[in-house]
Amino acid sequence: MKIGILALQGAVREHRNLLRRLRVETVDVLNPDDLTGIDGLILPGGESTTVGKLLVRYNLLEPIAESGRRGLPIFGVCTGLILLSKHINNSEQHRLGLMDTWVVRNAFGRQPASFEADMVIPAIDSKPFHAVFIRAPYIEKVGDSVKILLTYQEKILFAEQGNILAAAFHPELTDDTRIHEYFLRKIRNSLS
Ligand code: GLN
Repeated sequence: MKIGILALQGAVREHRNLLRRLRVETVDVLNPDDLTGIDGLILPGGESTTVGKLLVRYNLLEPIAESGRRGLPIFGVCTGLILLSKHINNSEQHRLGLMDTWVVRNAFGRQPASFEADMVIPAIDSKPFHAVFIRAPYIEKVGDSVKILLTYQEKILFAEQGNILAAAFHPELTDDTRIHEYFLRKIRNSLS
């Protein structure tokens, strides 16, 4: 199995290291050819307006959107969650638009810019996951085909729609591999 990691900006190395620990081959995605032969794609955190512009400049926006529509498993983290969403509150920024979600950026108003909290994610297991948030977005509303995997203080923070998975927090910044393993299971299911 080979996983592409969008490497235009942001926390690329952390995903790479985590996947290596799981003995999964990775490739940095910087141009459309890099999408050939990958079984899944991770969109790391960063700054979504900037990454959106870079996706256009590197001719990656439409090829990734097309791959996602054709069924390529894609996991978006934070900025990745924003880019995957069809609707972004008060923003016309570039996006892939693969998920029927309504997203609010930088949304934890009175919370500090970064915070951490232990959360139980039933789809993973019953042991709490230490979730790290950095200027995080949240999903305020979803369409019928989106499955909600985690809600916290009425904010949707983890969700999936078919081959697409999105998290508002950063599983690559912990030693806990369970969220990535969940994504790998999704890929294996789509391959079998
Ligand atoms: N606030 C950032 C944005 O709007 C996301 C932050 C992150 O990816 N950690 O793109």
